[in-house]
Amino acid sequence: MITRRAAAAAVLTAATVVSGTALGAQSASAAESLPVSGADYRISSYAGGALQWVSPNAGGDVVVRDWNESSVQQTWTIRDEGNGTWSIKVPGTNNAVDRDRGRNTVGSWNYIGADNQRWWLENTSTGNGRAWLLHSVSDGNLCLTRGADLGTTVTGCNAGDLAQSWNLDRNTATTPPTAGRPTIDLDYSQAPDLGPWLEQQKRTVADYYPKISSLITRGAFAAPTYFRIIMDPTLTKNPAYTTKNLGNGVMEIHVNIGYTRANKGDTGFLVHEAVHVAVWNNPARGHDWWLGEGLADWVRDYNFQPGTGAQHFGPDDHYDSGYQATARFIDYVSKTYNQPDLAYRLNTTDYDGSIWARLTGKSPEQLWNEMPK
Ligand SMILES: [Zn+2]
Repeated sequence: MITRRAAAAAVLTAATVVSGTALGAQSASAAESLPVSGADYRISSYAGGALQWVSPNAGGDVVVRDWNESSVQQTWTIRDEGNGTWSIKVPGTNNAVDRDRGRNTVGSWNYIGADNQRWWLENTSTGNGRAWLLHSVSDGNLCLTRGADLGTTVTGCNAGDLAQSWNLDRNTATTPPTAGRPTIDLDYSQAPDLGPWLEQQKRTVADYYPKISSLITRGAFAAPTYFRIIMDPTLTKNPAYTTKNLGNGVMEIHVNIGYTRANKGDTGFLVHEAVHVAVWNNPARGHDWWLGEGLADWVRDYNFQPGTGAQHFGPDDHYDSGYQATARFIDYVSKTYNQPDLAYRLNTTDYDGSIWARLTGKSPEQLWNEMPK
């Protein structure tokens, strides 16, 4: 423990020099700058969501919720408490993120400078060197962890654990700059002429991926942070499909080469596939196919490219026809009945059809019939 602490202190000292003359060398090592003591920050998890206080009063829970730049409950005042240790307080209060030594739960409690109320910061390679592990000063082998239940705890430190990897962004940040942004590898060996096109699409999809998460996962489960896009000569019917490679566990989007050559202006079909990637770890996934396809088209046609999607559906279509019929239905219900969380709820609830009546008092058939076609 002493050794780890000393090593971290050395890292912190080096990082502090960034503001001095060693800028080039430190930048090359990708070390993230330490927080500005006393400033307000957002603390976002690489497993999804952001750290949120529940109450300004002592004893409140510390939880993880979907990144929301308009929520003051996702801002924290980070202060240098000396000797390479930091407190993380609810702004305007003296309540700090505090480890319960007995149960290893985490809450916000009146700060008296105790070891279990201070943290030391270890910059890791996750997120191109942006991520931090937050080690408890009272036991440096334990790090602040996003719980699967969206609470917080401390668990054994592991730099590779995304649930322990946090971004610290000043509260002026409007989108999580790195957290939630995926690494995407490309394979265009079967269509080298499409390489420059695919490289361009990759940037757009990676930039939009955190938004997909904020629309439909809200930190409720971890969206995969790595996937591949493959130009696939065996695919000749649909524009693309998404699958998990059973050999190596990697998510793959397979793309139709002929479709792509004829539709270079289309990025939306890759966004649709990226939605399938993002929801793959959803415990409620496996709900009806039409809902999955409707949600993917809803993200594409009502969020990524609102107003420009084809939004085609015919007289025989129904709310559960999938794709654009269902996308239009989701958009209609969420706007008409003031249900901005509808897509998230559809994604995270085991679908049994009762959600429509619970949210609107009407059956899906009634809602479909009243929807302007
Ligand atoms: Zn699809």
